Amino acid sequence: MKFEFSAGAVIWKKDNNKRYFLVLIKENNEYDIPKGHIEKGETAEIAALREVKEETNLDVKFIPFFKHTIQWWFVENGEKIKKYATFFLAERLKEEDIKVSFEHKSYKWLTVEEIEKTIPFKTTIELIKTANDYLNRIDAMVAVNEEYEKLPEYYPNWNLSKNFVPGEGPLNAKIMVIGQAPGKNEDEQKRPFVGRAGLLLNELLKLAKLKRDKVYITSVVQFFPPKNRAPTEEEINYCIPFLKKQIKIIKPKFIILLGNISAYSVGGINNVMKNHGKVFYNKEYDCELFITIHPAAAVRIKKNVFIIEEDFKKFKDILNKNENKASKDIKQK
Ligand code: URA
Repeated sequence: MKFEFSAGAVIWKKDNNKRYFLVLIKENNEYDIPKGHIEKGETAEIAALREVKEETNLDVKFIPFFKHTIQWWFVENGEKIKKYATFFLAERLKEEDIKVSFEHKSYKWLTVEEIEKTIPFKTTIELIKTANDYLNRIDAMVAVNEEYEKLPEYYPNWNLSKNFVPGEGPLNAKIMVIGQAPGKNEDEQKRPFVGRAGLLLNELLKLAKLKRDKVYITSVVQFFPPKNRAPTEEEINYCIPFLKKQIKIIKPKFIILLGNISAYSVGGINNVMKNHGKVFYNKEYDCELFITIHPAAAVRIKKNVFIIEEDFKKFKDILNKNENKASKDIKQK
């Protein structure tokens, strides 16, 4: 069997509050999404940008973290070929004219419903639906964060930093990681887990065979408590309703709760030293909560490094078991 890799992009626009996706039309009237071979030395992202330019003449910007790979196979000259196509989600940089290449005769902007009705390929429909769902999640997250960011204006006695540190990662991540509150580095860069605890978290994710850009990372309180103090109960209470909304947008299958404040505020679980390494099902979020200590506690106290490393290795085993079970369930269907 031969393998082939290609890359492309789902391009969208909004008109009169309706979302449309770009489809290219081949000579034989088949619909197509801009895509093509990944050339030697190219990353999928570079290849997708090149293909979009060649097939549409559009300059686009990819939406961070979105990546959707579809696979299919076909037979050519008696040889089975397995094809993988990785798609990004693209926004046009300006409203320029589309010029299709020799490979297509024209193009159309279609809604997700029109695509469902007219395109016969299941994988293409699934791709467009996933992209549309992702754009809905972006709209929902922007709305929640716009309100969250305004909290310091509502409370005259606000004692946290005024810099909002939003979560980071794919809005459809299967795994979410929730810490306590940003530190000084996070406050300055307005990004979660970029200081010393963040460097350790990156290493711990590798132990669980997870890529940082595949998980959604955030904290219970998304404003820096000056001098790195623990957030007060009152501050946690201001912030928790927003975190709950964020979790419900992402709909993760697993949440890794780092430390006591996170375990208690999200899962009502006390005593991390007793419960670390364990999984608890949570009905409100319909997901599994995995408890461990906070990486900052491992940065401060060396003997905690062993505990947290073992927990992340355990988490890798839990994920593997879950994936094996999921693929068995699919086979049985
Ligand atoms: N610790 C946290 O809990 N969150 C951050 O973003 C950084 C450190």
